[in-house]
Amino acid sequence: MRRMTFIAASIAVHATDDVGSAIQRAADAVKMGAALIEWRIDALAEEPNAINAVGRLVRESPAPCIVTCRPEWEGGEYRGDEPARISLFEALVIDDSQSAGPRYIDVELAAYQRSENLKQKVNLAVFHPAQVRDMHTGLILSSHDFRGRPRDLLQRIEAMTNEPACAVIKVAWQARSLRDNLEAFDLLLQRQKPTIALCMGQFGLMSRVLAPKFGGFLTFATDHPAEVTAPGQPTIDELKNLYHFDRITADTRVYGVIGWPVEHSRSPAIHNGGFEAIGFDGMYLPLPIPPEYEHFKATIGAMIDHPRLNFRGASVTIPHKENLLRFVLERGGRIDPLSERIGAANTLIVGSAGGLECANTDCSAAVQSLCAGMGIGAKDLGEKRIAVIGAGGVARAVVAGLSDAGATMVIFNRRHERAEQLAAEFNGRWTAAGRTAKVVAGKMNSLACGCFHVFINCTPVGMAGTEAEGESPLYVPGADDVPLNDEVVVFDTVYTPERTPLIQEAESRGAKVITGMEMFLRQAAMQFEMWTGKAAPIEVFNKALMKRQ
Ligand code: NAP
Repeated sequence: MRRMTFIAASIAVHATDDVGSAIQRAADAVKMGAALIEWRIDALAEEPNAINAVGRLVRESPAPCIVTCRPEWEGGEYRGDEPARISLFEALVIDDSQSAGPRYIDVELAAYQRSENLKQKVNLAVFHPAQVRDMHTGLILSSHDFRGRPRDLLQRIEAMTNEPACAVIKVAWQARSLRDNLEAFDLLLQRQKPTIALCMGQFGLMSRVLAPKFGGFLTFATDHPAEVTAPGQPTIDELKNLYHFDRITADTRVYGVIGWPVEHSRSPAIHNGGFEAIGFDGMYLPLPIPPEYEHFKATIGAMIDHPRLNFRGASVTIPHKENLLRFVLERGGRIDPLSERIGAANTLIVGSAGGLECANTDCSAAVQSLCAGMGIGAKDLGEKRIAVIGAGGVARAVVAGLSDAGATMVIFNRRHERAEQLAAEFNGRWTAAGRTAKVVAGKMNSLACGCFHVFINCTPVGMAGTEAEGESPLYVPGADDVPLNDEVVVFDTVYTPERTPLIQEAESRGAKVITGMEMFLRQAAMQFEMWTGKAAPIEVFNKALMKRQ
């Protein structure tokens, strides 16, 4: 039977007064799904009565525990001397008053190699093949690098492997890109002893979440985001309920959202919830890749080519939509005609044999959202006059989709020349609706004058966390008020927040509204179907999203 990968809740205890609350936190962590507790006693170990406090932590630990007292020189907080630290470990595991002692103690490889005396003392305190006493505590030998991948990483692992007293190997380093995770996976696959191989920092989440796929001994998690004990550590709740950690097996297919930045994306909630709902063996992660094409190419290439990752697709967002098109083209993959026409794609599909396809679901999602919201068919859009505000990527997808349906559009943009460029590109094209597209550019101060049936915001104006948060794109200083009434439809592609200032204003003036969330869920549902071969109703994704809010 496959051995499970444990979730270890890492809890730092700073002072003797904190011991009671730390034990309560540990109990809550176990309820959330932690199978091991790591007591980080770096600061506590320097307190006068440390041994009693740590002894209580071990005795009352609600799950088997690891005791770690990380010195400053290895990224921890302990500033005391080595003999005191090791005496504390000895007392913990040998003292008869301790029930069974800690399940593991964690000692740095560097400390262990540096001093023969320390090594002997540690070896006396833990179980190993040559141990004559009945010891219950195992030794985790560990090595950390908070700057990057250590040059001698492989030598360090070899040294730990060859050390008879070492029960579990632990290596952790600051990932420089997503590719470092792939090396961590290779180390797990080649392990000769139980091994923990984790990457730290913003690129390292993949190694923490996918540890079960590669047989990692454990992954560390925190009970609270403000209490992480290493950079990039997820919460137990995220592991269990967002990434469905318990469902991950060696065969699990890997997906993700590629962007920069991408850590606050809602796509993992939507897709992982969808995978679970239909029983699909997939896992979806945020995949941060810096903007340059070279980063994109090297990272995605390595993920696709990794023999055991089973990377099968991605949602692609700002600033990589054009990079995706170029990459798929360079690799001889298939590009759908719509993506080619728009010049950008948002979906990567990797076939089981590594063949690539890309598609653009923003475009169809925008048209579908509009039609569903207005209660009309796509062909009826030919009768509508539509104001598109913005001339960036989303505006492009919207204009491509609506011009295909034969709608008449006026594009308004802060930088008028971009509106003119976009309009010129689509105006006069022969469309799928069997007519020539009518797309022109308008000046922002004439937004109120066009007798439009529909206004579509394709700018970030109103989006949380931007300069224009709280603003409406319909407000143009010095221009007439845009007429909004029950005959007008307002579609805001911004979806954070769902109820933007524009949506609120339009609703209060009687207009029909369509939110960006509607489009976001629809484009995700189309991606989901491309990857899984199964359609799921929008409600499935909406429910998954609501669960994580
Ligand atoms: P983009 O390519 O960067 O284009 C942004 C557009 O907005 C440009 O036309 C820009 O005008 C304009 N703009 C930016 N800041 C502005 C401001 N303060 N005032 C007026 N105009 C401003 O971005 P994008 O990819 O098109 O995305 C635009 C928005 O669409 C995003 O913010 C997101 O909220 C939304 N979106 C929604 C979905 C969905 O599924 N619902 C998907 C993707 C994106 P200039 O040309 O003058 O710079």
